Amino acid sequence: MSHDPHDLDAYREQVRTWLDANLPPREGPSLRGIHEISPEQLAADRALQRRIHQSGYLGITLPPEYGGQGLTDAHQRIWNEESTRYAVPVPGGIASGVTMGIVLPTLLAHASEEQKRAWIPKILSAEEIWVQLLSEPGAGSDLAGILTRATRDGDVWVLNGTKVWSSGALHADYGICLARTDWDVPKHRGLTWFKVPLHDPNVTVRPIREINGSSEFCEEFLDDVTVGDDMVIGGVNEGWPVANTMLTAERSGGAGNAAAAGAHGRGPSGPRRLAPDLVELAESAGLADDAAVRQLIARAHIDDYLQGQLLRRIGTAMATGRMNPAAVSLIKLRTGIVDPRRAAIAMEIAGRAGIAWAPGDERAATPAVDFLNGRIMSIAGGSNQIQRNIVSERLLGLPREPSADSDKPFRDVLRDARSWGTRKATS
Ligand SMILES: Cc1cc2nc3c(=O)[nH]c(=O)nc-3n(C[C@H](O)[C@H](O)[C@H](O)COP(=O)(O)OP(=O)(O)OC[C@H]3O[C@@H](n4cnc5c(N)ncnc54)[C@H](O)[C@@H]3O)c2cc1C
Repeated sequence: MSHDPHDLDAYREQVRTWLDANLPPREGPSLRGIHEISPEQLAADRALQRRIHQSGYLGITLPPEYGGQGLTDAHQRIWNEESTRYAVPVPGGIASGVTMGIVLPTLLAHASEEQKRAWIPKILSAEEIWVQLLSEPGAGSDLAGILTRATRDGDVWVLNGTKVWSSGALHADYGICLARTDWDVPKHRGLTWFKVPLHDPNVTVRPIREINGSSEFCEEFLDDVTVGDDMVIGGVNEGWPVANTMLTAERSGGAGNAAAAGAHGRGPSGPRRLAPDLVELAESAGLADDAAVRQLIARAHIDDYLQGQLLRRIGTAMATGRMNPAAVSLIKLRTGIVDPRRAAIAMEIAGRAGIAWAPGDERAATPAVDFLNGRIMSIAGGSNQIQRNIVSERLLGLPREPSADSDKPFRDVLRDARSWGTRKATS
């Protein structure tokens, strides 16, 4: 980069020139989960991300020692604004979003200085794609109830367990994995995060076929996976604060995605335009003058507008430290409510055209795929019900949900759960 870093106009000009010369224009909203990612595509996307990083446009606000540019939020905003019109690569699809939007802020907050210097440059250059290994077959909402164990063996840790619903794991190199390291303390206190190599021969990654036809999710089986102390993130048995940082990043990221979708004609469109995707759908169905359809579009527009306002108000309040971080649950909850409603409206307007379309006609497929994906935000990163619990307890100060197990050593929780089943059977 060769500009006066304080001259934002010059920086914008430089960004525009670089984008024009290096990236193709964005073709339209991409439908989540309908494209399989080939190894060739993944390699090409990694190479292009590396070029963006080498040119100084990734990690714009991060310190140089982590591979960043040490510039300001204003520079980042300029890149964000200018790059929305270009096809910025997302190596590994959703895995890229998880790496950059969830794992990176978590590492910045909790990894050691040495880890940050070693790992973050590799993340920025797409050498390392990470995913989250939190949920398990028996632990989702109750994340602190996980059963994956990490046992000390000499100077290494040995991990065993099963993880599930890991978005993008098929294309990732590492998982940030939550494991139990102490069974004799209450469940939130015996947890530790590890960096786990997904290409390790003792890790089996199995894709799960989803309702939209893709295999974005995976389940992973960890069988005696060995890692050193250098892979512990945030301290042994100090995992719960790390989990909270991660979930806050994920919940605000979900809202960020909604805002970004709005910029491309779907999702919250703000007061400027009247739900452009739905207007286009109504026009192509010849229903633009239909009173019932106009009502539906108005309903969606009101939702879009309110969503945009909520994002702006809470985002600004949080950025200036005037709001409890738990407020991201308000945005997450609203997205989880509005997304399925908006997807249902699009299906209603599309009518028969929303059910069948010519192969490869992505535009025609959009209402149906959005409808199938419409539940994502009401579950991923914590369900609507869990967000309501958080809002009531952490924002409104209502009494905490009763818990029978949060003060007991986790080993006793498991023992009591097993004997409860036996007691019930014999009573
Ligand atoms: C699109 C998507 C992407 C995901 N990506 C990842 C990922 O990358 N990595 C990962 O580890 N996980 C991921 N998940 C898993 C996700 O975090 C869990 O699905 C979620 O936390 C809910 O857990 P569960 O599915 O086990 O449901 P459960 O916890 O079994 O909940 C079942 C139902 O009970 C309700 N419920 C549970 N407890 C309470 C309570 N205390 N009060 C009121 N209601 C309650 C829930 O709201 C829900 O309706 C993803 C999920 C989705 C849908």
